[in-house]
Amino acid sequence: AHLDRIEAVEPKVHAFLHINAEEALRVADEVDAARAAGETLHRLAGVPIAIKDLIVTKGQPTTAGSKMLEGWVSPYDATVIERIRDAKLPILGKTNLDEFAMGSSTEHSAFGPTRNPWGLDRIPGGSGGGSAAAVAAFEAPLALGTDTGGSIRQPGAVTGTVGAKPTYGAVSRYGAIAMASSLDQIGPVARTVEDAALLQELIGGHDPKDSTSLAEPLTGLAEAAASGDIAGLKVGIVTELMGEGYEDGVMERFRESIEALREAGAEIVEVSCPNFKHALGAYYLVMPSEVSSNLAKFDGVRFGNRELPAEPPLTIERVMATTRAKGFGAEVKRRIILGTYALSAGYKDAYYGSAQKIRTLIQRDFDAAFEKADVLMSPTAPTVAFELGSKTSDPLEMYLNDIATIPANLAGVPGISVPGGLSEGLPVGIQFLAPAKEDARMYQVAAGLE
Ligand code: GLN
Repeated sequence: AHLDRIEAVEPKVHAFLHINAEEALRVADEVDAARAAGETLHRLAGVPIAIKDLIVTKGQPTTAGSKMLEGWVSPYDATVIERIRDAKLPILGKTNLDEFAMGSSTEHSAFGPTRNPWGLDRIPGGSGGGSAAAVAAFEAPLALGTDTGGSIRQPGAVTGTVGAKPTYGAVSRYGAIAMASSLDQIGPVARTVEDAALLQELIGGHDPKDSTSLAEPLTGLAEAAASGDIAGLKVGIVTELMGEGYEDGVMERFRESIEALREAGAEIVEVSCPNFKHALGAYYLVMPSEVSSNLAKFDGVRFGNRELPAEPPLTIERVMATTRAKGFGAEVKRRIILGTYALSAGYKDAYYGSAQKIRTLIQRDFDAAFEKADVLMSPTAPTVAFELGSKTSDPLEMYLNDIATIPANLAGVPGISVPGGLSEGLPVGIQFLAPAKEDARMYQVAAGLE
């Protein structure tokens, strides 16, 4: 049924870069046979899933949305993919994204944009617009994304789906093509909070192949989501993550969500995180710095599609330069150049060093806020889905869409976006943030709003 749906709507939505019909059907048949034989299977066995094309899958292409990796087939599975295969979820295919996960609209994909099923002239968010659109368009009930600065949560918000960024280290990053390693996390995209929690439980837990992975698995997530009990919980409204710059329609739905939580028995308090105003600036130094290091491997020698210069001499420097000039799109180049500059001798302390200090201050803001509140709440994004093409000529405008999602990545805390109603026919997302390793609490309160 999902493959039929994909065939019907893909010409309009373009959520997928690769469809894996044969293998998906084989796994579905295996599940049927196992059930008929009375085997006990995982709760999600047989539930189809779509995978953001930044996560490597053995035997299937992984492009990262870039010409640099077009045609490349991974020789190994990411740890999350191993777990998904072991639990027998049929993998429907690989979903579209901004090139190397850099963007907020999926318009930076080298293979054309994805469109928002709620309005085909609108962006589906980014970078994981493909995964969110696939779930929103009923092409897939579940998907995986990656979130470095909001790429699971903001697409979730603008497509009316649920998207969660787990605590840093809760899910192995092994096999997720690195964007900014200290910020990246893989997480679930789903249509309900409980589905998202179940999927995080499946993919999470320690992995010796990721040195930053937590020693102990985070448990009780699905149970917390199923309960959704928020009576007596203290919910903190972050002063710095609302108001100016946020659309009126978004703020209206946000206020209604606060009221809904109050009625369900939550206590609402206001908290201030004064350093959040520097979060975007710090992110756009830390992230490109790590990008410039992580993407150095795509030189056409060790990794990436090699491109030769048109004219001799055929030196290694010229081969690398041609490979990068042709293989990377404008946004990727912009960030590599920015990061290289921020890390260069003479500027490193002023830029990268200052950004790291701000990161510490933001972590302290979170610590102080969580003394006063059990969870924090904000709109996920300042606007509803904007029109395709409306922000591509102004990178800063595009970056501003991440204002509310970035603090969680800088501090490593978990965050989730849940649907909070519509504004002018387009979905608004509500974000909940919890202390590190308290992902269960995050799912519980998010389910309370659902
Ligand atoms: N939109 C953000 C950026 O462009 C987030 C990216 C992400 O989370 N992968 O960096």
